[in-house]
Amino acid sequence: MNIEIPKVELHVHLDGSVRLETLSELSGLTLEDTFHQAVVPKNCESLSEYLTCFDLPIQVMQTRENLVRIAQELGEDLKRENVIYAEVRFNPLAHTKEGLTKEEVVDAVLEGFSKVDIPINLILCMMRSASLEENSEVIMLARQYWNQGVVALDLAGDESKYPTSDFATLFEIVRNVGIPFTIHAGESASFESVKSAIQMGARRIGHGIHAIEDEETLQLLKDKNILLEMCPTSNIHTKAVNTIKEHPFWQCYQMHIPISINTDNRTVSFTNLSKEYQTLAQTFPVTFKDFCAMNTQAIAASFLEDEQKVKLQRTIDNYLKQFSE
Ligand SMILES: [Zn+2]
Repeated sequence: MNIEIPKVELHVHLDGSVRLETLSELSGLTLEDTFHQAVVPKNCESLSEYLTCFDLPIQVMQTRENLVRIAQELGEDLKRENVIYAEVRFNPLAHTKEGLTKEEVVDAVLEGFSKVDIPINLILCMMRSASLEENSEVIMLARQYWNQGVVALDLAGDESKYPTSDFATLFEIVRNVGIPFTIHAGESASFESVKSAIQMGARRIGHGIHAIEDEETLQLLKDKNILLEMCPTSNIHTKAVNTIKEHPFWQCYQMHIPISINTDNRTVSFTNLSKEYQTLAQTFPVTFKDFCAMNTQAIAASFLEDEQKVKLQRTIDNYLKQFSE
């Protein structure tokens, strides 16, 4: 059932989802060495350690040709799993080390997506470790490509080292420019981080795992209809939760907080969306109708125009119809 459900993925990093075979070919490393460098070890201790798995992919994602190929392959992987719409994210400034301009980087990724016949948009990531100037460049880039392949901004990076509350000025700029945004929050930091992200105007929250610890934060998510982009396997790897049983996804769903299921990083976490659905279905009493309801929530919280949302929702409705006849 997991493969055939029409799915929407809202939280997937391009650099964390480069096919292992491609990464091995482009880096010249053996498949085994590539695996050890780019897939998180079983005994991963923290988000900081998890983030070291991005070094190798970023090294090879410095040419137009490689960026086009990697984006296209991710698009193909998404399509194979019956993903009907995806918002893929990355930090464009990480790919200008060998001379590409930031515009050339975005163009290459969009070209890769255009070779796949499912709609895919980009979310540009600002980084917690970057300066205000660098992040402002990403904001301007998002404005330049606004509704031409780029639909939103994000804040990514190590939340335990750089608290969300430090980015009030940054998000004031984003709000003034008028670009919607999601923020990675409540992954390696507490519910306070989620609260800060909500206060700053985030339309969605990346992970938001620790929101479960605070009634008020949960109520805010519900009242403001803010979706949590949940990534179960990744959350275990970064120690945001200890076991899948402790994952708050089911509790949040039952509390009517909008959620969606995502991979975060297909390669780093050695997963795909079907595996995520499978893992959850084995642990919680979730049915395919619940999964469809989560995808409906994902469509509603996507950064698409209403007209496109209606079209996607029709695909889910048609899929469900075959079970009621
Ligand atoms: Zn993420």
